[in-house]
Amino acid sequence: MIRVGTTRPITECIVCSSSELTPFLDLGVTPLANKFLTEDELQAPEPGYPLKVSFCGDCGHVQLSEVVPPIEMFEDYLYVSSASDTLRDHLYELSDVMHERRRLSADDLVVDIGCNDGALLKGFARFGVKTLGVDPAKNLAELERDSGIERYVGLFGSDSAGEIADRWGRADLITATNTFPHIPDLHDFMLGIDKALAPGGAFVVEAHYLMDMIDQGAFDTIYHEHVSYWSLGSMIRLFGQHGFEVVDAERVPLHHGQLRVTVQRKGDRAPESRVQGVLDAERDRGLRRLETFERFAEQTRRVKRDLTSMLADLQGQGSRVVGYGAPAKGNTLLSFLEIGPDQIEYIVDRSHLKQGLYTPGSHIPIVPVERLLEDQPDAVVLFAWNFVDEVLRQQAEYCRRGGRFIVPVPTPVEVGLDDAQPIPTA
Ligand code: ZN
Repeated sequence: MIRVGTTRPITECIVCSSSELTPFLDLGVTPLANKFLTEDELQAPEPGYPLKVSFCGDCGHVQLSEVVPPIEMFEDYLYVSSASDTLRDHLYELSDVMHERRRLSADDLVVDIGCNDGALLKGFARFGVKTLGVDPAKNLAELERDSGIERYVGLFGSDSAGEIADRWGRADLITATNTFPHIPDLHDFMLGIDKALAPGGAFVVEAHYLMDMIDQGAFDTIYHEHVSYWSLGSMIRLFGQHGFEVVDAERVPLHHGQLRVTVQRKGDRAPESRVQGVLDAERDRGLRRLETFERFAEQTRRVKRDLTSMLADLQGQGSRVVGYGAPAKGNTLLSFLEIGPDQIEYIVDRSHLKQGLYTPGSHIPIVPVERLLEDQPDAVVLFAWNFVDEVLRQQAEYCRRGGRFIVPVPTPVEVGLDDAQPIPTA
């Protein structure tokens, strides 16, 4: 049973403070996407929060309409970067690129905000640079105690940044991968960056990219942890208010589309020409217009209709359907589509932290991946659809025996082994 929890409404744009906010998509009242439940917790009332998204008519920033207090979401965290091969490889690549570009030496400090299990910093540590992880997750700090990566356990902001700078010195490089969308108080966060960053230093942000979310119909990117859905245009607006500018911007294919942005203090370095290229593409794609987002909302409602009827058809044929992957975003999809264990018997996931638990709201059990071959269900809904190629390759045997995968967005389709893209050689 869902009990509606307390949220703080956003009445002014978190980037530009305008009150011209128009909600364009309402995904209902959903539990926190990372609050997986133990068996004992299944009977207790579960907090849920309204999940709605707004568009700022002044700066174009896309943001939640109401926010949940961050500490409720991040103190006990089940998402582990290293659980995915693709993500771990990607973070190592990021450390290679930034080590090279910034010419980091043994005296330089790299701070990773939202360091999770330290996967990115382990990449930097290979080069002998000093590293510090910042993350409020106490469970991950405990888990990674012996990893050799120093940690500050807490949220990053102007106060903690002062403390960090006093204790570890100022950073030559600060990174925030996938945590930048989490931050409700962006201005306090940027004051923190200014305190913690050494003169000439760079701040690198990687976040899911609004353009890709729209192009892919990836409404499941939306959940309470993600307060912001970033475009380059709204980042530039934010950083400019704090004396910073974007000097580089690149689109990265991870998770089906991220934006990697390098930020420095104004005047430190001339911006790369591709910054303007990304901005032009955003304008051409209509990212500054409300209609673009209204169309996205319509497409989202269509996925609900189509997938619901697809699952009903399978059930009518007596097919057994399960799920693959229990990422946070899968829970947006499950909640919005009102899918439960009647439609999806169980979900397999590689993360040992999640096995044995149940999905929030929908209460579907999570079991080890081996179950797929033991059981050979008829169809598998791929909630981790951004890893479709990785999953199809790993589950080749399940497919060979006649198993099918259903990719839910942007339009629900069945895929098999023949649809897997070859492993990129570059
Ligand atoms: Zn705004």
